Amino acid sequence: MSPARQDVRTHFKSFVDAVKPYEPGKPIKEVERELGLRRIIKLASNENPLGPSGKALRAVRRALADLHLYPESRCPQLVERLCQELGVAENQILCGNGSDEILELLGRGFLSPGDQVISSAQSFLIYSILTQASGAEFVGVPMKDHRYDLKGILAAITEKTRLIFVANPNNPTGTYVTAQEVESFLAKVPERVIVCFDEAYLDFVEAPDFPWMLSYVKAGRKNLILTRTFSKSYGLAGLRIGYGVGSPELIGYLDKLRQPFNVNSLAQAAAAAALDDRFFLWRTKRLVMAGRRYLYRRFRWLGLRYLESQANFVLVHTGRDGHAVFRALLEEGVIVRPMKAYGFDEWLRVTVGRRSQNAQFYRTLKKILRSPKP
Ligand code: PMP
Repeated sequence: MSPARQDVRTHFKSFVDAVKPYEPGKPIKEVERELGLRRIIKLASNENPLGPSGKALRAVRRALADLHLYPESRCPQLVERLCQELGVAENQILCGNGSDEILELLGRGFLSPGDQVISSAQSFLIYSILTQASGAEFVGVPMKDHRYDLKGILAAITEKTRLIFVANPNNPTGTYVTAQEVESFLAKVPERVIVCFDEAYLDFVEAPDFPWMLSYVKAGRKNLILTRTFSKSYGLAGLRIGYGVGSPELIGYLDKLRQPFNVNSLAQAAAAAALDDRFFLWRTKRLVMAGRRYLYRRFRWLGLRYLESQANFVLVHTGRDGHAVFRALLEEGVIVRPMKAYGFDEWLRVTVGRRSQNAQFYRTLKKILRSPKP
């Protein structure tokens, strides 16, 4: 065959070709177009129902005039603010284009074909996607009582293990591992294995026995990185900004892999301002915590099982095909997240919204579940 006639896929890597792309929550505009609906509510992507922080918005408006300039490369103002906030050194923080980017950098930095990554079988899908995209093998340890089984993860470690991801609280279950469990887990993980605690939902935690992971970083633990985001509690998902905190060695290594201008200038300005918006954060937390309790009560009224959540979403068992209930809700203008991709066929994940949105979700769900099964 002449080279000109070779298929474009000739040099595709087979393990990349096999990756199943991440399926995000349905955007409101798409549902408007597809179903011709108005007044849609989206409770599908764990976004902040209050919108963005007001201080962040004002900072973005001020930063607009400098859009012709490249952003600063290492987010110096934001890093300085984060250092004050967290009590760590500047070389222990790396900002990314969403915390997703920090997770990706871990994949790029540590994984080669044949390596292994361990996480839970029912956790954030990006962990398995980034693993497959590197040609490494993903080991999903089954959950116990819908919680991460850290002992099971320890037992799964082999010579090939490079990375362990723990989402705490977990997406999509909202469950968590306790301080005590983490203490004995970290005592047994070999130093050569990198452990990432993904704390995207940390601000919504109420449980008193939740671990304070930063203390391990501050104590000098070299193989630990925490990832956090401005997408949820600060309402900046659209700008894409998050960060990792870890040892200077680990952070310095990942820093070499990022693009020079990985975090755009608006995101940098917004995130630094959002950190000062204490009132917004307080309102967000209050709304989420009250909203969770509202949803629990309504699920109990409907006789539905749900998982108590430390995050800004709740996983609920519909007792029927979750995708069918998702479709029925969609047709009524309520977007939630079906959970089949996570192995929860009869469950839905609903993001806590504003009071009126939670009530609309509840009324619509009740109507659907009271109608005969399709
Ligand atoms: N980790 C978890 C557990 C998440 O649920 C999400 C958001 N879906 C992220 C990380 C990524 O957040 P972002 O890239 O917006 O910071």
